[in-house]
Amino acid sequence: MNFKEHIRVIEDFPQPGISFKDITTLLKDGKVYREVIAEMTRRLEGVQIDCIAGPEARGFVIGAPLAVALGVGFIPIRKSGKLPGETIEADYALEYGKDKLSMHKDAIAPGQKVLIADDLLATGGTIATSINLVKQLGGEVVGAAFLIELLELKGREKLEGIEVLSLVQY
Ligand code: 5GP
Repeated sequence: MNFKEHIRVIEDFPQPGISFKDITTLLKDGKVYREVIAEMTRRLEGVQIDCIAGPEARGFVIGAPLAVALGVGFIPIRKSGKLPGETIEADYALEYGKDKLSMHKDAIAPGQKVLIADDLLATGGTIATSINLVKQLGGEVVGAAFLIELLELKGREKLEGIEVLSLVQY
């Protein structure tokens, strides 16, 4: 299936010069959405995965259905202050300033094999921070899966040593 034709590109969002890849047009088509998850599942065949972790909010949209398809648990990675239990946090750089991502301290048991999932790999900052959190908890990151990869931004280079899967490239 050609997933790219279901992704809408909106120029100058959220600011001038950014060519935003809008996946809502893909998600609203149930057959295409299901095929995205099925294709990821096929490509991950043979990879040992104990759970999937995904950063809010679009990481949930890819990570949670993928976890259900693989029959493993899903762990939310959230902005600071959103999770109710004891958390660990890590800083990540935004275009202007900084933000924090957090995970529950007991979300991952040491040695668990974790796949990280998000909708899109751009600079890799979000996923590098997610990897940092999983590693702090003793998890082993076995890969990172994305619907979209923006090749020009070379996010993959920031994730050295991690197996990266993406279905659509720009
Ligand atoms: P990075 O941290 O790799 O620079 O940026 C990736 C994060 O920003 C992802 O969590 C993704 O949801 C969001 N993001 C950045 N650009 C886009 C875009 O063009 N489309 C979508 N859907 N998400 C984007």
